[in-house]
Amino acid sequence: MSDYRCMWTGLGLDLDRHDSLLELLGQGYAQAFLSQQNRPEGMKYFDFVVSEAHGLRIKELVEHKSKGGTVVGTFCVYVPEDVILAAGGIPVGLCAGADFAVADSDGLIPRNTCPLIRASLGFKMNRTCPYIQASDFVVGETTCDGKKKMFEAMAEQHPTYIMEVPQKKTAAARDLFISEVKAFVSKMESESGRKISADQLAEATRRLEAKKAALRRLHEARKADPVPISGLDALLVSQISFYDDIDRFTTKVNELADEVEARAAEGRGVFAKSTPRILFAGTPLPLPDWKLHSILESSGATIVGEESCVGSRYYTTTTPANDDTLDGQLSAISDRLLGTHCACFTPNLERVEDIIEMAREYKADGVIHYALAFCQTYAAEAIKVEKALKAEAIPVMSLESDFSDNDAAQLQTRVQAFIEMLRR
Ligand code: SF4
Ligand code: SF4
Repeated sequence: MSDYRCMWTGLGLDLDRHDSLLELLGQGYAQAFLSQQNRPEGMKYFDFVVSEAHGLRIKELVEHKSKGGTVVGTFCVYVPEDVILAAGGIPVGLCAGADFAVADSDGLIPRNTCPLIRASLGFKMNRTCPYIQASDFVVGETTCDGKKKMFEAMAEQHPTYIMEVPQKKTAAARDLFISEVKAFVSKMESESGRKISADQLAEATRRLEAKKAALRRLHEARKADPVPISGLDALLVSQISFYDDIDRFTTKVNELADEVEARAAEGRGVFAKSTPRILFAGTPLPLPDWKLHSILESSGATIVGEESCVGSRYYTTTTPANDDTLDGQLSAISDRLLGTHCACFTPNLERVEDIIEMAREYKADGVIHYALAFCQTYAAEAIKVEKALKAEAIPVMSLESDFSDNDAAQLQTRVQAFIEMLRR
């Protein structure tokens, strides 16, 4: 990596702690990813993106800002990225999948809060995330209670805007959300100093849809047996989708999908045919949370899909056709976002149906439902998911964990027992 220290200092990073973070990430990445066999050639681009995650990509964001552009940090897939793009902004999903920052939120939010929320705030407090430092403001949302209260603490540290996300799927909830998306348009217009036109929004949605279509292509190819790309690599691409340049990312994912589809057609895989196939379902796995995928794929199974916001919940929903007026587009964008089946909604039976459908389509031998510790919404849904899958005779196991390695051995034992049961 070139010497970016001057840029990091300008962003207010704590250089010593940041050095420790980069060292940890580098070691973890080499261990989990670079040791894999039979990786597609196209993964070289994504290896490069990770190696420059705090370098070249941040330089691009800083240059964008120096030309008057806006950078907006987001924490949830309900935030309309196309509205940010239409105002000439760059959305960056703020990854918080590292144990490194969890304790840095202590004293501001309770410790019995999910690690994703604690690390989101922790990365602001310990000044090791150049993305949040480079952002003009962050968008919080009223999804789960832990996040809502964390954003109050975040607002004391960094400019924070809150979008209200409803919790029910009713007509009144839809009206509320459309008005929130419209309010966000006004926010972006005032931050960027640019009025968003119907044409600009349509073009931004087109770019976003192209990105999601590329992701769908890539993940669809995982239905093949043998699986042409590892779960680890597929997860990594989903994680990178939240911060790479949108058009470059789309091109590179399509190139990777070309290669992976060709492998599938030739029957070439990263693991042997009939390797036990697992569908992951549950909470988001933000960068650099690779723990479960890594444990599973080094235990003789493969993950063939992620029913997660870092996965299918992000790329599945598409923007419905509309009349192309600004109002029509904003309603369609709201409908696209409300098509995301997050556990924060009640009732949320559609998510259970999605998991059953994915398990069948991806020919999963079993499903692992995963909830981050202290995530009540997904832990509660685990019970419903287990019951529904058992009724369909689909083997299922529920796990709960965090970003630390403290329970890695215990997880491995449970995962190995599950894989053995699937083999029998
Ligand atoms: S799980 Fe729910 S709250 Fe979390 S990112 Fe996804 S949609 Fe947002
Ligand atoms: S994992 Fe659960 S508790 Fe954590 S932010 Fe997402 S919905 Fe909230």
